[in-house]
Amino acid sequence: MNKIVLMKKIEDELTNFKKSPLFKYRMENKFFPVIGEGSVDSKIMFIGEAPGKKEALTGRPFCGASGKLLDSLLESVGIKRADVYITNIVKDRPKDNPDPSSEEIKLYGLFLEEKIEPIGQAHGKSYETNFSYGKVKIISLYHPAVALYNGGMRETLKNDFKILKDL
Ligand code: URA
Repeated sequence: MNKIVLMKKIEDELTNFKKSPLFKYRMENKFFPVIGEGSVDSKIMFIGEAPGKKEALTGRPFCGASGKLLDSLLESVGIKRADVYITNIVKDRPKDNPDPSSEEIKLYGLFLEEKIEPIGQAHGKSYETNFSYGKVKIISLYHPAVALYNGGMRETLKNDFKILKDL
């Protein structure tokens, strides 16, 4: 299946993802599913946790405060936002709690393949893993929101982003 057709199929499935407990919440709040945006040909994909309110109201990932920081981190290593693909594990805004539950991650994780390690150990390192379609390099990065709450982490994030430039 070609990439455009596959992306459309994923988009349609997620738009009608009635089996998700978050679907009703999406409809009640006039939220959008946040499927992802950017270049589908990019070699770099950013995967966040789940959409915040601003993201759910617009259907665009990382368009709020964390997104602004993500944009400036990308700029610091000379990468344009439009040249990467940005998505989240959970594509609908989780109810009440900004952190997705393990059930939600499992349900939406069907649309991604993933390997999760404690971020404190994994951040700034890259490793290769085998996905069904071939080898993929994973780089674990702190969520930009970390630096919004703890300014001292900004340097750590900036340093970790340099790995993208090196690759
Ligand atoms: N935080 C996330 O994890 N994802 C977004 O899209 C926005 C903020």
